[in-house]
Order: sequence, then C-alpha cells, then structure tokens
Amino acid sequence: MVQAEVAGLSTVQEAVVAAIEAERDDLIALSRFIHAHPEIAMQEAESSAACATFLERRGFNVERNVAGLPTAFRASVARSGEAPTIAYLAEYDALPGLGHGCGHNLIAIAGIGAGIGLRAALDSVPGTVAVFGTPAEEAIGGKAIMAEAGVFDGVDAAMGAHPGTVEAVCPTVEGSGQALACQGVRIEFVGRPAHAAADPYNGINALNALIETFNGINALRQHVRSDARIHGIVTHGGEAPNVVPAFAAGDFLVRAQTLAYMNELVEKVHRIAEGAAAITGAEVRFLLSERANFDMITNHTLARRIKTHLDALGLVMPAAVPEEGSGSTDWGNVSYVVPSVETGYPILDRVCTWHSQEVVDAADSPMGYDHTIAVAKAMALAGLDLLTDPVLLQRVKGEFAETRAARGG
Ligand SMILES: [Zn+2]
Repeated sequence: MVQAEVAGLSTVQEAVVAAIEAERDDLIALSRFIHAHPEIAMQEAESSAACATFLERRGFNVERNVAGLPTAFRASVARSGEAPTIAYLAEYDALPGLGHGCGHNLIAIAGIGAGIGLRAALDSVPGTVAVFGTPAEEAIGGKAIMAEAGVFDGVDAAMGAHPGTVEAVCPTVEGSGQALACQGVRIEFVGRPAHAAADPYNGINALNALIETFNGINALRQHVRSDARIHGIVTHGGEAPNVVPAFAAGDFLVRAQTLAYMNELVEKVHRIAEGAAAITGAEVRFLLSERANFDMITNHTLARRIKTHLDALGLVMPAAVPEEGSGSTDWGNVSYVVPSVETGYPILDRVCTWHSQEVVDAADSPMGYDHTIAVAKAMALAGLDLLTDPVLLQRVKGEFAETRAARGG
C-alpha cells in the first residue's frame, strides 16, 4: 500500500492528506458503485448523480446540467472570490459492451478525492476548489462541449488523472503528455443512377468520387508531417452492382499534433474531395463534426509539482519521455482554456491491452484504489501549492500562455 503518512508535511498539508484518508472507504465505495453500474457516454445518470450527491453531502455547492449536459456538474467551495480557482476533473463514462475498461470509475474518485482534500485547506488558505463532472469522454467529448460553453472560464488550473499500466507516467517533460487534435469529417457524393451495363454513360458514379477521395488522401500522405493521421471508412458505397451508385459517403478522422496544422489538413482533404467531384461530375457535401478535439497542451510545470508529491507519497513511476501523441481526448479542449495536467498512473503491475477485461478487473482492484487515492492526495497537494505560492501559479500560467501561442492557439 502507498504510505498513508508522509514525513515533513506542514499542518495544512497534513489536513489535506488527512481529509482524503478519512474518506478513503467512502471514495472506494463510490468508485465500486460506478464500476458496478457502467453507463456509456451521455447516459451516466446514476454515476454522475452519485458523484454530485457525494460532494453535495460534504458541503460543496453543486450545479447540475452544466453546459446543457444532463450528466455534467460543477461542485465548488469558495473562500474569497479573488483567490485562484483550482479545478479537478472527474470522468465516469464506460465503454459499450465492456464496462469500465478504461477505469473512469477511478478517474471519478481521483478528482473528487482531490477536491475534498484541497477543500480542507480552505480553512486557512483563501481560494476556490471546483470539481467538474465531465461526461462522455469515450464518445462525443463532454469536456469539449463544456469548454466551448465557457464552463472552465475563470479556472486557474485544472488537474485530473488517468489510470494506465506499469508504463504510465506523469508528463513532466516537454513533449510528454501529448494528444492529437482530431476533427471528424463526413464526405458525401451525389451522382446519378443508371444501369451499370445498359447505359452507364448516363450515370454519374458517386462511389468513384469517394474512391478518388481515398486515392487523393493516400497521395497526400507523403506530404504531411509524421504526426498527422488521416483515416476513414466507407459508410455508403451503392445499392447493387448493376446500378451506378448515385450516393456514396465516408466518415473520416483528421488528426495532427496541433489544432492549427489539423485545420490545414482538413482544408487539404476538402480540396481533394472537390477534386474528386470535378473528376466524376458528382456533387460533394463536405460536413465537419460539430466540434474538434483540440491537441493536449500539458502544463509540465504543474505536472512536475504533482510528480514531486507522488514521489513523496511513494507512488513512483517511470520517467516521462518526449513522445508524439497518438490518441485524442476532450481534455485537449480544456487545455486551450486553462493550464491543464492529466497525469497517468499505474493500476496494473504489467503491460496489457487497454479497453479490455483486464482493465475492467484492475479498475476494481486493491492496487487500483490504493494508487487512485495516492494520486488524489498528490493532486490536492499540488493544488495547495498553487493556492499558497503565487510565483508557482505565475510560472504555470506563463508556460500555458507561451505554449498556446506557439501552437497557434
Ligand atoms: Zn479513458
């Protein structure tokens, strides 16, 4: 077990850690409840209600239905309106057919535990502690909707944790903790039907236009940066082989290391689709998903602070290394508004496939809970540092402004 008591803590730090320790059993019970009632994106009625009520019963002011999302909430406690606002983000959505194969039941109590811990410091330190219930990370992207609605405006720093394997790291160095910006694109072609053998010359082949779009994207690949990913599927390719397809459609994802570069690539894919329309004579409809996932701007100054506390608590992880982003997350949209860290941490002592039954089991295991409680403490202590050390807060904000400007944000 990660040590419950840490030497050399100040009285306020001790109060923060003790507040979380006092709630250990209840936090684990909350996490177990979420684990036992897996609810998928935007349907997390029981999970979000359990989280919101948990905080409400402990003195937090809870606002439900945040950003028009029935399963989102903001829970906060304030002492002095002028002081910084420190936020913790709690996820709780599950995977269809699998349950908590991404461990979001643990993410929920990491954020809630940290919020409860830092709240204990408000007896002696001014500030605001907010816990955001952020639904639908696995699909739709609740945080992106919340960020767009201005829910995180006025927050000075946001922290959260995501479980991982023995390879999990806290993103302390530049180039670590990346996630790709991602835009969904739907491309539809409308042609004209005809008998595919009797009078094909009267037809306009929408499927050919879609195939040319794939070919164009494949030709583009040589000329994109190595961090870019463009991938798609055919959703409509015609009705019968003896009919010239009058309608064809595909869904694509365009991803890149920065939002600015991703937008550039989306425009190139748009021109490819227009080219395919010109070749075939089909009409093109180029439809963007309502919102993109932004790339993740990890705040390494804040991550280093979390890591210092994790080390002191005995949860030691491998050193972070610069690594290109691969997946995408709605945390990215938050990270363009507020200095953000989503730290990884291990719930398995080995490597395994993520989104699997192994993870479902680890998300309800003694190691899973023990390490999650430790991460909650480290994030609460990092929050306390931000409330009590204006120089640190300025450094965190300075890095945020610089990185965002460098990425064209
Ligand atoms: Zn996840």
